[in-house]
Amino acid sequence: MKLKIGVFKFTSCSGCQIELLRINENLPGLLNLMDFQNWTMASSNVQQGPYDIAIVEGGISTPEGIEEIKTIRRNSKLLIAIGDCAVFGGIPSIRNWMKQREAEDLVYPKPEHLKSMKVSSIDEYVKVDVYLKGCPPHLDDMLEALKAAILNIRPRLRQHPVCIECKFYENECLLTTYKQACMGPVTAAGCGAICPNVGRTCEGCYGPMSNPNVKSMVERLREIGLTDEDIMRKFRKYAGTSEYYREVARL
Ligand code: SF4
Ligand code: SF4
Ligand code: SF4
Repeated sequence: MKLKIGVFKFTSCSGCQIELLRINENLPGLLNLMDFQNWTMASSNVQQGPYDIAIVEGGISTPEGIEEIKTIRRNSKLLIAIGDCAVFGGIPSIRNWMKQREAEDLVYPKPEHLKSMKVSSIDEYVKVDVYLKGCPPHLDDMLEALKAAILNIRPRLRQHPVCIECKFYENECLLTTYKQACMGPVTAAGCGAICPNVGRTCEGCYGPMSNPNVKSMVERLREIGLTDEDIMRKFRKYAGTSEYYREVARL
């Protein structure tokens, strides 16, 4: 019997769902095992739950969102959070460091009609079974999570930093050799070090690796000339609400 799947979006840019759409070209056989019953980006044929798997993109930023994510959780056996927005609040959560009113005034001509709140990860409100970091996560990680769900086992996700992947490609280190502010040492692997591979620093878009040495990273960034303000912004960008980064991000 096919697994019933729902894909849901909260405060986000839809980039994670666009990555997920590539499932069609990469592993069409997997689609024979799954029935996407509710995925408005992909089909107007929407069926209500319950679902075997809910795949959720985006952070929570409205009272309606809180109720909706709780309903999704009640209707789903397994909940997979895809992308930094769902896992940490992500880029939209940058506004959490401003006064709510200031952020609303910058964007909307009549913000008094809004029911917007600070942006939270979805696990602020419901239990999450699988976290897929990244902005967006690589399709390989999404496929790993779905295959694991089909087999009823835990997905094997990388715990090491981007630097390990970077070394597989024998790149010269941008941080130690060129004194550029590369976040690879604290950032979770999974992207294949695509930025250092083309000579660009890792900006940390996969969020923190397992148990990162944030203190050492901060010291290194200071040594190469970043101010404490620069460093704070680096750690806020994708995962400032995470347990590892919140102190440096001054949450
Ligand atoms: S994690 Fe990144 S790609 Fe995914 S929805 Fe959020 S901003 Fe977009
Ligand atoms: S370039 Fe960046 S990702 Fe690569 S080894 Fe150096 S610090 Fe790590
Ligand atoms: S190298 Fe860093 S910034 Fe670039 S995709 Fe990978 S995790 Fe994201």
